[in-house]
Amino acid sequence: MNRRAISLISGGLDSALSTKLILDQGIEVIGLHFTSPFSSRRERQEGLQAVRTANELGIRLILKQKGLEYIDVVRNPKHGYGKNMNPCIDCRIFMLKKTGEIMAEEGASFVITGEVLGQRPMSQRRQTIELIERESGLGSLIVRPLSAKHLEPSKPEMEGIVDRSRLSDIAGRGRGIQYELVAHYNLKEFGCPGGGCLLTDAAFSGRLRDFFAHEDNFTMLDVELLNTGRHFRLRPDTKMVIGRNKQENERLRSLWTVPQTLVYPLGFQGPLGILKGHIDSEVIARAANIIAFYGKNISPLVTIESNNGSVSRHEIKRSDEDPERYKV
Ligand code: SF4
Repeated sequence: MNRRAISLISGGLDSALSTKLILDQGIEVIGLHFTSPFSSRRERQEGLQAVRTANELGIRLILKQKGLEYIDVVRNPKHGYGKNMNPCIDCRIFMLKKTGEIMAEEGASFVITGEVLGQRPMSQRRQTIELIERESGLGSLIVRPLSAKHLEPSKPEMEGIVDRSRLSDIAGRGRGIQYELVAHYNLKEFGCPGGGCLLTDAAFSGRLRDFFAHEDNFTMLDVELLNTGRHFRLRPDTKMVIGRNKQENERLRSLWTVPQTLVYPLGFQGPLGILKGHIDSEVIARAANIIAFYGKNISPLVTIESNNGSVSRHEIKRSDEDPERYKV
């Protein structure tokens, strides 16, 4: 084994500290940060945080997209979901498999993660950690510096590449010891722990479930739409997304491309929407009713325009139908 490692850098404090504990032993470390289609906007900023963390640690950072391949993992996770649509075990396996490929490309001999035994209910239990080691193919090549003394020695520890006596024995959800280490090392560049994955969000997960139940092809536009506005399933094959405020209306307008249909109110203030899927007069009537419901339409007649490359005007008699029945 050589003295070069890949460290998974999330931008949070655990991965920064783990890396620091290994760097302190004079081992060369290359950082690796995965970006996900399901990262929240905050998490995307944390991506930049990972760059800052790597700079502070003085290491090179590789940025790698999980990409659309990851969608299949989320759609059919072998080990199931957590509380929401978060397939944490399969997600860890996926990332570690990719890390193994990068390890080979970079000529590194082991991997560092910031995992802490017992910190997360799904993926950081002892049994699960062992399962992830097996299924990722990395086995004992994973070093977890923060919890090392609670775990079986990894291969780099057994071979004396990593000095086990200088690793830590943190377990559980508290972060007191981590903050002591942060102060000891005077680290400043790390983000807030957790909360950046949309798959752990109940509302987002509901929309994603609906998407998987009705649609096959998943694009990055779909991810952006799932993360914006109010969502309605008007027919099994038709979805409508409307903005909740001016900012979201503008965002939807910028996301809109043909063949999706843009719909918006005429003569009154109301949300802008994107229709995706089959469009007919019934769908347009439902869309108009929804725009009127969330807008400031007081007339029994609702006028909207639709644009799918050519603009059409529709004047619809407002119905009593409750739009909430279509809400996803
Ligand atoms: S919280 Fe999200 S990113 Fe983190 S392991 Fe679970 S699915 Fe993956």
